[in-house]
Amino acid sequence: MPAIEVVGLHKVYRRAFGRRGQEALRGVNLTVPEGCAFGLIGPNGAGKTTFIKSILGIVQPTAGAVRVLGGSPEDPRIRARIGYLPERLHLPGSWTAPAFLRTVAQLKGLVPDAAQHRRLLERVGLEAAQGRRIGGYSKGMRQRLGLAAALLGAPALLVLDEPTDGIDPLGRVEVRGILQEEVRRGTTLFLNSHLLAETERVCDRVAILANGRVMREGRLDELARPRPRWMVRFAPG
Ligand code: ATP
Repeated sequence: MPAIEVVGLHKVYRRAFGRRGQEALRGVNLTVPEGCAFGLIGPNGAGKTTFIKSILGIVQPTAGAVRVLGGSPEDPRIRARIGYLPERLHLPGSWTAPAFLRTVAQLKGLVPDAAQHRRLLERVGLEAAQGRRIGGYSKGMRQRLGLAAALLGAPALLVLDEPTDGIDPLGRVEVRGILQEEVRRGTTLFLNSHLLAETERVCDRVAILANGRVMREGRLDELARPRPRWMVRFAPG
């Protein structure tokens, strides 16, 4: 059973709040095998975040079928097995990290476990910042906390939208290590990153999304040569 199976996915955003109507996905077919580390790459505006939100049931597709972990992303039992790190994190600035994890655990229907939360915060390198308010965290620290929240309950599928955004180079290596460890444990990883080097190091397979369509899909070393111009910008050579 694939972890993610998407057939003929279309998404048209209606004109609203001063924004123009926009066809963000134009018939995407994609299968992500269980246990795979899968990377989604593509230029800005390609539809990557829309795709991620569609497979999580956050965005309602205009057409097409989505199955995640063998069920519908709208099924709460399926959602409980997915860890998600969104592109833009909204965190309660006056809270501490343990309080935040406790609440996220409750929202996920888990029994909060302070010792486990402490271990998770250690794993993402936030042990020293546990007593501080989240409002004083740097962008990278907020991303690490978001990753800890996504890891709550040992999800079967981790969906991460730009997980190392705002993290310094050393922190990136650490986060990459956490993701590789998760994949070794058998977690399926679906990663959206504009850093090609990061995708290359972590993922077995990638899909290139451009203009709402999957242009190529396969092992990264098998894909487009010469590389498209936008790809060369991120990873010369
Ligand atoms: P980026 O890397 O810049 O985040 P992306 O590949 O994730 O880009 P999306 O954010 O999915 O792309 O956007 C795809 C297209 O849909 C873009 O043209 C964007 O402007 C448009 N879009 C996204 N969200 C909405 C919305 N809520 N309403 C209208 N158009 C939208």
